[in-house]
Amino acid sequence: DQDGVPGRVRVAVRLRPRNAEEMAADADFANFVELQPELKRLKLRKNNWDSDTYEFDEILTEFASQKRVYEVVAKPVLESVLDGYNGTVMAYGQTGTGKTFTLGRLGEEATADRGIMVRAMEDILANVSFDTDSVAVSYLQLYMETIQDLLDPANDNIPIVEDPKTGDVSLPGATIVDIRDHHTFMELLSLGEAHRIAANTKLNTESSRSHAILMVHIRRSVDSGEDALPVENGRLAHLIKPSQQLIRKSKLVVVDLAGSERILKSGSEGQMLEEAKSINLSLSALGKCINALAENSAHVPVRDSKLTRLLKDSFGGTARTSLIITIGPSPRHRGETTSTILFGQRAM
Ligand code: ADP
Ligand code: MG
Repeated sequence: DQDGVPGRVRVAVRLRPRNAEEMAADADFANFVELQPELKRLKLRKNNWDSDTYEFDEILTEFASQKRVYEVVAKPVLESVLDGYNGTVMAYGQTGTGKTFTLGRLGEEATADRGIMVRAMEDILANVSFDTDSVAVSYLQLYMETIQDLLDPANDNIPIVEDPKTGDVSLPGATIVDIRDHHTFMELLSLGEAHRIAANTKLNTESSRSHAILMVHIRRSVDSGEDALPVENGRLAHLIKPSQQLIRKSKLVVVDLAGSERILKSGSEGQMLEEAKSINLSLSALGKCINALAENSAHVPVRDSKLTRLLKDSFGGTARTSLIITIGPSPRHRGETTSTILFGQRAM
């Protein structure tokens, strides 16, 4: 069991339930994807007598509730963030397989379909104390290697800066909003969503062609008497000491990745081609990083894309990362589903 091992990426697979169209289309493809949650196995049927089997850390069936997905995938990351470590939750998969449903679904307060961003903030607000702690949020879009501020559309080219001493990554100029109550957070998410639609209309693209990135910055004060937080690798968790109290800084990053489907078809040109190249670049850089982490490699190649540079201090070392691989049930997307699963396998 790898639960207690920070650094390595934990990978869960989530199967989207069949939609109306898929139900109507073919009744017999129900068993293209076969899940064995107790064995943590997934099988993809090749033909009537043969299938490929893959193992993952968690298998989330089409019946898994949003609450369960949150608990399995995000809660361990969140707990570690509340303890002062950085953490990341990402969703990877073909467009239409449930990434945004899993991470970004707003839902009304207390409705069952709230996604991970909303549930994470509920948990954070329930655990911090505003006498001593603070919570602040940034919301960004990464499109064609350019970072745009979803909380301030005028801010459309934010640089990534790395502190040479601590290794901390920062985004100078990105809007950071203090959060004290859940309502404010929900309004920010909606505002960010609206800005994302407007920005993508202006750029003549779709939201599935960019990465959406929510960052939650947490500062907590800790009694000086308490055991100091171990600083491994000297870069991920930091203690600042103003007079008597220690401040622990940490950050939760939630990434709704661009659709993983291959749109680089022969004949693609212009913007489509550039988008495809850019998505391909960042997702393959991400794949190389999670692969390096899985192999405990000393070198994690974060420099290759903005996505991985941005995630640098939320990756490896003491940081915790969960990756949710989302797939659909239809054998018509056999190729995409297989390559999505193989991406997840790189972290294992
Ligand atoms: P993606 O972000 O990967 O493109 P979406 O999250 O937008 O995919 O999901 C595509 C559609 O499927 C949406 O209508 C969404 O509500 C629905 N959907 C996705 N996952 C689930 C699920 N687990 N249960 C019910 N509906 C889902
Ligand atoms: Mg989406």
